[in-house]
Amino acid sequence: MRTELVSEPGRPDRPNEDFASVGLPASGRGGALVVLDGVTPPRGATGCLHSVPWFTARLGGALTELAASLPDVSLAGVLARAIARTASAHAETCDLSHPRTPQATVALARWSDSWVEYLVLCDSALLVEGPDGGVRALLDDRLARLPRSALASEAEVDARLRNKEGGFFTAAADPAVAARAVTGVLPRAAVRTLAALTDGATRWVETFGEGDWADCLSVIREEGARALVERVRHLERSDAARSRAFLGRSKTHDDATVVHAEL
Ligand SMILES: [Zn+2]
Repeated sequence: MRTELVSEPGRPDRPNEDFASVGLPASGRGGALVVLDGVTPPRGATGCLHSVPWFTARLGGALTELAASLPDVSLAGVLARAIARTASAHAETCDLSHPRTPQATVALARWSDSWVEYLVLCDSALLVEGPDGGVRALLDDRLARLPRSALASEAEVDARLRNKEGGFFTAAADPAVAARAVTGVLPRAAVRTLAALTDGATRWVETFGEGDWADCLSVIREEGARALVERVRHLERSDAARSRAFLGRSKTHDDATVVHAEL
């Protein structure tokens, strides 16, 4: 087992709103990885006294603990419990029904001697490499399938699409959203490597088109997770005009996280 974890803020003067962890129990061959991308709210009310890092630290901490301590509970069940626990930490002080209550995308994986379980919610990615070197991207593509015109107005997105039927879902304050996640179980023998990435890192594939998912995993394996993030930063800086055209209203540099686990 070899793991690598890199998480870089988009800007050095702003807190990193991503969260990443790897949990490896002292015995056995099992483990779990957690990657969250906290959603940056627009200026204005969120109904919450707390910061996005406050939220991702609590949700990520709960996911790490519960994935390890509740091996018989599915990852969707683990996510539901972690959302509920985090919501209870600020239900009395904050309006958790606000569409911009702190929220995050989620990529989870948990492995045992026999199985690899996965869960993906919103636009973080989980890459799975098989024993033959084939790479499969496990994605929740609801957000990617929405027309860009539907995403032009933040107010419209919040009113019609964010955590709404026919739109896309994030881990916010409603445990029921866990049932919306893309989940599955693979035989452990079918998985050689896992990599979880936030969208600040998947830009290398999805925004800049520098390669496919297999190429992306090759960069991580051969040059390291940090090298992938550095390549993204280079692309963002080296051609600002091209970058803006690709990124539209997105941030020039986003928090970027890569967790790589060779099982
Ligand atoms: Zn709060």
